[in-house]
Amino acid sequence: MIRALLNTKPWRLVVLTGTLAPLAIVCGIRWEGTGGAVSLASLVLPVTLVALSGRLRWSLTASFLVAASIAIEAFYSGGPDGGNGYRFAAALILIISTLSLLVATAVRVLRSAVEDPQTSLRYLRELEERPSIANEKSEGQQDHSSQTEFPVLLETLEDIGHRISMNLDLDTLLPAIVSTAKASLHCEECRVYLWDRTGTSLINPLQAEGADIDQFVPDVDEGIAAWVIRERVLVTSKQVAQDQLLTSELADQDYVPQAVAPLMAGGDLLGLIVIDELKSPSSNFKRMLDTLANIYALGIKNAQLFRRVEEMALRDGLTGLFNHTTFQRELRNLVRKASVNGTPLSLVMSDVDFFKSFNDDYGHQAGDDVLRDLAQLWKAVMPDSAILARYGGEEFIAAVPGSDEDRATELAEILRSTIEQHPFLSHGREMRVTASFGVAEFAGGTQSTDDLVRVADQCLYSAKESGRNRVVCHTVRSVITLRSTS
Ligand code: GH3
Ligand code: MG
Ligand code: MG
Repeated sequence: MIRALLNTKPWRLVVLTGTLAPLAIVCGIRWEGTGGAVSLASLVLPVTLVALSGRLRWSLTASFLVAASIAIEAFYSGGPDGGNGYRFAAALILIISTLSLLVATAVRVLRSAVEDPQTSLRYLRELEERPSIANEKSEGQQDHSSQTEFPVLLETLEDIGHRISMNLDLDTLLPAIVSTAKASLHCEECRVYLWDRTGTSLINPLQAEGADIDQFVPDVDEGIAAWVIRERVLVTSKQVAQDQLLTSELADQDYVPQAVAPLMAGGDLLGLIVIDELKSPSSNFKRMLDTLANIYALGIKNAQLFRRVEEMALRDGLTGLFNHTTFQRELRNLVRKASVNGTPLSLVMSDVDFFKSFNDDYGHQAGDDVLRDLAQLWKAVMPDSAILARYGGEEFIAAVPGSDEDRATELAEILRSTIEQHPFLSHGREMRVTASFGVAEFAGGTQSTDDLVRVADQCLYSAKESGRNRVVCHTVRSVITLRSTS
């Protein structure tokens, strides 16, 4: 009954208030004193309920109606005398509206705090304090207790589902999965294993590198993990002990955790969730874990897709290197750091020589294959700290932090000769290309990123002008320019 009242739509309550208000005014004026007070008091309930809904606009409307009714009633039934009547009415409207608004705002703030994923700790603590869902049968009142626990169970799953589906960041999603699983399944250990980049072995993304090795490490080729991966159903240690087939199959397994469940979404196996050290084992545990694993898998799939889309927006589709926009952003950061720390930063820019004719001779597809190979050569030669990008059609660029012009020129020269000697292959044909390079070092101070890129571009232009397949750095270019003007 109370729940139904609390769930009534705010606009309905406002309509109710608006309908009761004139009645209350008439009653109040006709039967001064108690009659009026009782009828006016009847308005308090809908107004309070609207305030508790947290809807500010409806709350203000309802409280205004009530305050106005009380003021009119007081005014006409000779409440506060004479000219004070107006002031009294205005003060009443103000006080009631403000109180109601305060309540509505407080409810709103509380609600958003509870719904905020960041407050999951508080939520989890509450969850831990709830009567254990896992305990319900072990306490010997299965039918009755499962009835009373059912709304709690639904609420818990709905809450977890909401929390998981709203979280698109894998880095925060996985800890949320672990903490919600621990709290709702009442276990001490929960680990999530996902496929690595090669898709051949499982890794625990939350396991810090160098940390102690887990007691149980899922092996994709044998043991319980391999069985779950093959059969795609969850297995508990209890089943392993009772099922003859499983017992013989897993006879060599040193350690069997209390449950291993597959994380399946849309027919894909994304990984495994391993549960151990249950505080209170129960027969409902398996059903609950199964449902949770489905919710978690959908959340992980969403987050993985989202990460992929984000990655695609940052990178060039053909080469996998950063695109022009991302490079500009990264370069601005590097320039800022270099000018604050006073460390060197250089740019290496290149353009493939006579690529138009190359395309004409070998075809566009072969040209694409060359561009892909070139990206690999850049990755192989440039240091890991370099930011690499495909700057335009067949133009590549690298920002090399910590390298001065001399070092960057050395790197560009290594890359130039590597490209010159590299046999590019496409559809069984071997082809050769060369590229020209421009190198510029960040001059420090107020030099902008645009100016830095412009200097590298001018050097590249000089390399083309002076015969192609060569590296020109800023200092050398100055020499060339001086010679050509003299
Ligand atoms: P230069 O030595 O002066 O650089 O001569 P070039 O022919 O390379 O001239 P330019 O750099 O102006 O030409 C760029 C050519 O690169 C034009 C286009 O055919 C080719 N190109 C640009 N983007 C792509 C691409 O994504 N795939 C392929 N296959 N070719 C591309
Ligand atoms: Mg070009
Ligand atoms: Mg070119």
